[in-house]
Amino acid sequence: MNQYPVHLKSKLPLVGTTIFTIMSALANEHKAINLSQGFPDFSCKDKLQDLVFKHIKAGHNQYAPMAGLPLLRELLAKKIESCYNHLLNPETEITITAGGTQGIYTAISAFVHKDDEVIVFEPAYDCYVPAILMAGGSPISVPLQFPNYSIDWNYVKKLITAKTKMIVINTPHNPSGKVLKKEDLIALEKITENTDILILSDEVYEHIVFDEVIHESVWRYEKLAKRSIAVYSFGKTYHVTGWKMGYCIAPEYLMKEFRKVHQFLVFSVNTPFQYAIAEYLQESEDYLELNKFYQEKRDFFTSALKESRFEVLPAKGTYFQLLSYKKISKELDTEFAIRLTKEHKIASVPLSVFYKSKEDNQVLRFCFAKGEDTLKKAAEILSKI
Ligand code: GLN
Repeated sequence: MNQYPVHLKSKLPLVGTTIFTIMSALANEHKAINLSQGFPDFSCKDKLQDLVFKHIKAGHNQYAPMAGLPLLRELLAKKIESCYNHLLNPETEITITAGGTQGIYTAISAFVHKDDEVIVFEPAYDCYVPAILMAGGSPISVPLQFPNYSIDWNYVKKLITAKTKMIVINTPHNPSGKVLKKEDLIALEKITENTDILILSDEVYEHIVFDEVIHESVWRYEKLAKRSIAVYSFGKTYHVTGWKMGYCIAPEYLMKEFRKVHQFLVFSVNTPFQYAIAEYLQESEDYLELNKFYQEKRDFFTSALKESRFEVLPAKGTYFQLLSYKKISKELDTEFAIRLTKEHKIASVPLSVFYKSKEDNQVLRFCFAKGEDTLKKAAEILSKI
């Protein structure tokens, strides 16, 4: 018998609640240290908080322009120029979004048609595939090669068909911490040359790269710049994930289509916060310190794990560290992550959830965007297991 009063046909029958919500809830329930969902446990700069109040008090509380506050877009254009040496028109090529996820969803909705194929690399951040399915597209999975999470571009080339509409890249990569290199972007450039394939480049961790590695934005590559939509996040850069603020950049002909969807999905984004970020950006370039800030956290956490039986996998970017537990247990990563939360009071994210095939390499993701006390306590517990 139908359990609901109205018969429903789900658009996403295989999609449940995101792993981030599940693991954070489990962490709360068991009073565990929550290194699962990625968010900082420290606050943003006082100055930035004060600016939000200032602009609310100043009466900037009505709708912002659909594409975002002009001043903010101008400043972002300057930032992109200084970081990636790419000139863009702030009027036509930048749109402020309600976070990275909205940017990704909007881009996929705007460009992916029914039966189009979209290449995604797995492990894949969990919002890509549902957005592709909602657009009626087919996600085509390409595994990143364990344990380096590198891309076999020859394999990617073989998967390209007349139906391939988009390739989604993500660097620095969540969940693996892998950072794409120049060779990767050049390979992508070659593969897409003379095709109608678009690139959706998720660069929300652009300012969190380590060991002198540089962030290879699509904007550094002239040919990619002509076919790319890139997504950014103020949440990651300013420690304000709850503000749900980000932006998208694309050449004008793509941004025009992006905005057609954006205007009916959210119309425009939170006004006083846009004023606050714009003013903050004028005065401070503190995103330039972020690499060092998070590298110290990574190093603190991993050196505290020296005696542990967990194996530290290389992490070149993002605020996530992968740990392999293959010397500790043969359990599935989902089972092990749940037991770790319940029995040892540490919540993490099992990597298999980011694969369609549920590939299980016995690896868990830990968020190190936390204060030293928390990281120390977590490492002490992990070292005893
Ligand atoms: N990006 C965050 C992570 O990877 C989670 C964001 C969310 O919960 N939707 O943990």
